[in-house]
Amino acid sequence: MARRRQIYEGKAKILYEGPEPGTIIQYFKDDATAFNAEKKGQIAGKGVLNNRISEKIFTSLHTIGVPTHFIRRLNMREQLVRQVEIVPIEVVVRNVAAGSMTKRLGIEEGTQLPRTVIEYYYKDDKLGDPMVTEEHIACFGWASQEEMNDIADMAIRVNDYMCGLFAGIGIRLVDFKLEFGRIWENDYSRIILADEISPDSCRLWDIASNRKLDKDRFRQDLGEIAEAYQEVARRLGLLQPEGEESAVLDFDSAKKKREAKD
Ligand code: UDP
Repeated sequence: MARRRQIYEGKAKILYEGPEPGTIIQYFKDDATAFNAEKKGQIAGKGVLNNRISEKIFTSLHTIGVPTHFIRRLNMREQLVRQVEIVPIEVVVRNVAAGSMTKRLGIEEGTQLPRTVIEYYYKDDKLGDPMVTEEHIACFGWASQEEMNDIADMAIRVNDYMCGLFAGIGIRLVDFKLEFGRIWENDYSRIILADEISPDSCRLWDIASNRKLDKDRFRQDLGEIAEAYQEVARRLGLLQPEGEESAVLDFDSAKKKREAKD
């Protein structure tokens, strides 16, 4: 097979040219970074889990009519997606105060917000992804007003859907980050949901215990990071129940067992 052309390597994913024009392969790495890449590490099996978790969420969103870049999962770590022109804005949706909001505004972590808050950050690692307003986005032409309306509407729909999805499996959706892209059809473009949705990009707390089941375990050195990601995957029905052999992660050990038997 011909070697694939790498288009981009990010902190947690590598993008390769897809098999057809207008497609891209997203490869999910185990690498983890935090604090604008000042802290680096690896979470064993994270790429496999995020690939599955993101697939599950994107396909569910598709069924409620949110347009996304997801086409299909190819294997344990890769998915085929539509190539988009990424809007250089990170869209953060918050239901509960945590992370940068608690620091910036002095609000206690865990405070339920009286209404959902949407924030925008300009995607620029050198600048540390500064928070911006819709005024900046319009002023510098990062997205049109019409595109921002679509983005805000989709962000709210995604939030409503995901709050329900996670509440149903005993998880509180505290906040999350979305990225959007433009696709062109003839002379017209439209906005679709891109990137990934996973415990790397969401804050997910167990409702009963408040235990963090997301990347904050890595950011705050809480330990049992891979286990937390596995727990999210398991509750989403992507892994076998605890105690039974996991089809995804125990791939190698299952193979070894088979070989031992033979
Ligand atoms: N987030 C993300 N990528 C970023 C920044 C934030 O996925 O580059 C997610 C983060 O995981 C959290 C939400 O967006 O779920 C809000 O993050 P916050 O602004 O609190 O920043 P942080 O505390 O993560 O630096």
